[in-house]
Formats: sequence, C-alpha cells, structure tokens
Amino acid sequence: MRYSEIMIRFGELSTKGKNKMRFINKLKKNIQDVLSIYPEVRVTADRDRAHVYLRGAQYEEVAESLKVIFGIQSFSPVYKVEKNVDALKAAVQEIMTGLYYDGMTFKISAKRSDHNFELDSRDLNFILGDAVYDVLPNIQAQMKQPDVNLQVEIRSEAAYISHETIKGAGGLPVGTAGKGMLMLSGGIDSPVAGYLALKRGVDIEAVHFASPPYTSPGALKKAEDLTRKLTRFGGNIQFIEVPFTEIQEEIKNKAPEAYLMTLTRRFMMRITDRIREERKGLVIINGESLGQVASQTMESMQAINAVTTTPVIRPVVTMDKLEIIDIAQAIDTFEISIQPFEDCCTIFAPDRPKTNPKIKNVEQYETRLDVEGLVERAVAGIMIREITPVEEAQDAVDQLIDDLL
Ligand code: ATP
Ligand code: MG
Repeated sequence: MRYSEIMIRFGELSTKGKNKMRFINKLKKNIQDVLSIYPEVRVTADRDRAHVYLRGAQYEEVAESLKVIFGIQSFSPVYKVEKNVDALKAAVQEIMTGLYYDGMTFKISAKRSDHNFELDSRDLNFILGDAVYDVLPNIQAQMKQPDVNLQVEIRSEAAYISHETIKGAGGLPVGTAGKGMLMLSGGIDSPVAGYLALKRGVDIEAVHFASPPYTSPGALKKAEDLTRKLTRFGGNIQFIEVPFTEIQEEIKNKAPEAYLMTLTRRFMMRITDRIREERKGLVIINGESLGQVASQTMESMQAINAVTTTPVIRPVVTMDKLEIIDIAQAIDTFEISIQPFEDCCTIFAPDRPKTNPKIKNVEQYETRLDVEGLVERAVAGIMIREITPVEEAQDAVDQLIDDLL
C-alpha cells in the first residue's frame, strides 16, 4: 500500500484567533511554493488541517521537504481506503503485517466523521482489532502508549488510516510577521541570519551588492544559491541585485583607506533602506556578529547604523562563530558559503580598517562624494528576480545555456 496524502497540523498559529485564516492561507501558499519541485502534488487547507495530496509523488521526498517548513507543528502520512468494512479490514491487516515485530503492542483509534457510516467508532475499534488478530495472533492490544496507534477516520468521501506522526519545524509561517530586507553577502553569517528571521515568520527579500567586474559571476551565483536554500523554509524569495561598482570605485578614489569599510557599509545601509521603503518592508536584517571583524565593533555598528532610523535586526549578533557555523551546517548553507568567490567587500577591504570610526570624520569624507546621486543610481539599477526552490530544473536550464554558448 502506498500513502496517498499527508495531513498537516498547524503550530503556534492555532492560537491566533481572528488572524487564523490569514495565517493558514499563508502557510498553504508557502507549502505550495516549497512543494513546487513535485509538480504532481496538490495542497488544500481548512481551519483545522492542511492536506497534501501526493498523486504519485514519493512520500519520503515530500516528507523531507515538509519537515523544514516553518509553521507546521507535525504531520502524518495517510492511506486512503475505500469506505467499506471489508476494504478497511484488508487495509489494517496489510499495514499491521508490514509494521509487525515480535512483542509489538497496538491499538485502533477509529473516528467516524461521517455519521451515516454503518459502524460507529466503538464497533470499528473491535472489528478492525479482530481483523488484526486474525493475521497476527501474537500481537498485544494496549490502550496506553501502544507501539502502534492505528488511527482510522471515516470521512464522507473515503476512509483514512495513519499511524505515524512526524515533528515539523515549528515557528511561524513565513510572511505572517511582515517583510524585512535581508542584506545577503556570500558569507556564512547572513544566510543564518535570514534563516532565523524566517523562523519568526518574517518574509525576507534578499539584497545583494555586486561589483562586477571586481566580483565574479560565481559570487553572484553563490548568493543566489544561498537564497534558494532559504526558500525551503517558507517558499519563494525575491532576490535583489544592486550594482555597487561605481560606489566602491568612488570611495576608493576619494576617501582614506582606513575608512573604506565604514563608508561602504553606510552606503549599503542607505541603499537597502531605500529599497525597503519602495518595497514596503518594515525592517533590515543583516549578519553582523559582535566583535567578529573590524566592521563589527560596537563603534562601527554605531557609525554604520547612523544613516537610518529603520530597525536593524541582527539575529546572530551575540553568537560566536562556531554557533553560527553549526546552524549553517544544519541548514545546508555552509558548503556554499565557503566556496572561494570573493565578494565586493573582500576585494576592496583595506589591510587595516578602522575599528573605532568617528562619525564626524565619516561625515567629513562623505562630503567629498555625491552621496545622494550615487544612492539613487544604485537603486535605479537594481535587478529583481524571484528565486524558487526548483533547483534541478533551474540547474538543467543553466547547464543547457552554458552548453549552447
Ligand atoms: P557574512 O558572513 O554574512 O558575509 P561577515 O562576517 O563576512 O558576514 P561582514 O563582511 O562584515 O561580515 O558583513 C556584515 C554584514 O553586512 C553581512 O552579514 C551582510 O548582512 C552585510 N553584507 C556584507 N556584504 C554584503 C553584500 N555584498 N551584499 C549584501 N550584504 C552584505
Ligand atoms: Mg562577508
């Protein structure tokens, strides 16, 4: 017998009263996005549950995808069975025979949602239990904590049997907490910051600064691949590429080396904030971690943050590197992050950046630059694409294009 569908239980959102349907619809859309890599699959949702209809897709693969989607409390694979007693008996016999091991205990928990069905739940428990004894005479029934609790539900269209509950990722469905702009480099920290924001329901858009020809297409692809990894937790993500070459060259030509980093970061912050405003985001998210590098002393953070009053969320700010790496490994971004493509900051990085930049000096150096014009041109040049979880398909297309050229 093969699983026909998966029943999904909601997490924290079930307590959210009035907003409940909004939460559920978001989660449904997120599940659809994530499962778009299995084109056969269909998703529905009502107030109590969501259902994934496999329609031929491999249960094990779909389950792997479901395990990491935020907002799912748990889920159970389900067998769909014809709604008559003989079919039900045969099904429980087949399922239990497949599961059986020496000393196993079990119980049947029948539930009759369709009250026109000929047997009530008590009768069903007995009759189906007996059917199991017929094929497994040595099995023991046990009401409290049996090894297998076979749940049988009679609904109007069919009967459903399940026995397994798999823990979901918890958290909140992505998109239920509003939108934030994730400053995404190709490094280890910012994807982890993005993941942690997703976990609390933030809908992220990835903002990536690229400085071709100083940065390579490889660095850009790396940022896109990291974004694609993040789509597994809540669906598609807008990827915003910002042309940053002009600004970096200007700063390099006109400001003292020790202040390159601070000035660069202030531009990134201004531009991200401008994009946020246009796209109706509420916060900025970055991967800053206290004390990790020169840009991340508290003095630096203050100088960089001074260009905006928008809340800047730093999910990894007090974590140490090893903690961050642990998460990066768990979410499968680490291997991509350590690919050796230089991003714009490494290339223009001074040997000895200022660890305690003075805002007064920073502002003085900025008078040498056309800050407003530079920001405006960068924002005008952004390129936006939607990143979806469909990896293989996209890679195949990329490969084809490479082969043709
Ligand atoms: P990460 O591992 O995320 O690159 P990092 O330890 O290298 O972080 P920095 O290089 O100082 O730290 O960058 C601090 C933060 O600034 C990053 O976490 C990211 O949020 C943002 N940032 C840096 N470079 C870029 C970029 N090219 N595009 C977008 N955001 C960037
Ligand atoms: Mg970096």
